[in-house]
Amino acid sequence: MKVLHERILKDGTIVGEDILKVDKFLNHQIDVALMNEIGKVFYERFKNDGVNKILTIEASGIAIGMAVASQFNVPLVFAKKVASRNLDLETYETQVYSFTKDQNYTVRVSKKFLDEKDHVLIVDDFLAMGRAALGLVDLVEQANGSVAGVGIVIEKVFQEGGQLVKDKGIKLVSLAQIKCFENAVPIFVEAEE
Ligand code: 5GP
Repeated sequence: MKVLHERILKDGTIVGEDILKVDKFLNHQIDVALMNEIGKVFYERFKNDGVNKILTIEASGIAIGMAVASQFNVPLVFAKKVASRNLDLETYETQVYSFTKDQNYTVRVSKKFLDEKDHVLIVDDFLAMGRAALGLVDLVEQANGSVAGVGIVIEKVFQEGGQLVKDKGIKLVSLAQIKCFENAVPIFVEAEE
């Protein structure tokens, strides 16, 4: 997605070895027009896959999920990282290990919002080691639903997540695929082709 590549090059910054910060437009301050374009591209790529629900994870996934769900005209559900007193006691839960934070956390979705009739498109901002995406797949499977696909805004292909998702036979669409960082500049897979 050309406009996304350009925006990453313009406004993304690299932190340490392998973290790309995109908080100017994607996950803190949000460029809503770009988000809507992202929603349209995911719709085009998954419109024939029978999607009836979008699933993401709080907090960064919610804006993306909104844009996608609005295109599909289906509900958006987001997995919660914090147990709250007003979340139903009946939840599907799974453990996710975060490499960026070096800690395990539990994510949960009320059993009211996922069931065996759901054919779910999972979306998130980043795909790195794949733990967040696979955690969401696990929640859908616990509900006896099925996964229509995984849509990712930025995949870091030098980390293993993309392969793990594809190994499960799941359709994966990543709008920007970063092959590596060179001299603090992200290099996209397409740039070489
Ligand atoms: P994974 O579970 O695939 O290792 O990591 C995906 C999650 O970690 C995403 O939900 C995202 O919030 C966060 N993440 C992973 N890599 C990056 C990165 O380079 N930049 C930012 N901003 N978040 C990342």
